[in-house]
This record gives sequence, structure tokens and C-alpha cells, in this order.
Amino acid sequence: MRGTKRRMGYEDLENVAEDMVLARISELAEDESLDFCRCPVCLQDMAAIVLNRVPPLYCCSLLEKNSPGEDFSRRVDEVRARIEEELPRALELVRSHDNH
Ligand SMILES: [Zn+2]
Repeated sequence: MRGTKRRMGYEDLENVAEDMVLARISELAEDESLDFCRCPVCLQDMAAIVLNRVPPLYCCSLLEKNSPGEDFSRRVDEVRARIEEELPRALELVRSHDNH
């Protein structure tokens, strides 16, 4: 899939929700008060679970990402709220299926 994106010249097409989820998971991984496995498998599982449950938020220019209009900003806020709802659920799910 990445190859197709590059071949078509769509490198700027990006799901901003993905960046937001990965940033939050990396923050959670740093939080020592939380008890869960930080191995790459579990962290990626958490990312996939959350990303399957929050709406994608695509943008295709750095300009939109760096100086978003009102509508885009509002959608960023909505997605951020959804991510905060889904993160604890994903954490619990991964913790309960921790096989190692
Ligand atoms: Zn693990």
C-alpha cells in the first residue's frame, strides 16, 4: 500500500488521526503509573484497536495540517475526544489478551 501511495505521488495524503493516536500511546507508554505491557506487539495492537474505532481524519497538505481552518480544527477536536474514550478500552483489551 505504501508503494502505491508513493508511485501515485500521494505522499502528502495522511491520516492525522494516526499521528494523534501514536503520540498518545507513546505518552501512555511513558506513564509509569499505568500497568500494561509496552512491547512493540502490544503497543501496535493498541494503536490498531483505537484506529479502527475512531474516524479517520485525512489531510493532503502540510498547510492544512499546520494552519488548519475552523472546520478541520473542529474535526481534530472531535477525533481527539474519541481517542481519549477509546484508549482506556484498548489498553484493557490488550492487557486482558497479554499472552507473554
Ligand atoms: Zn506485550
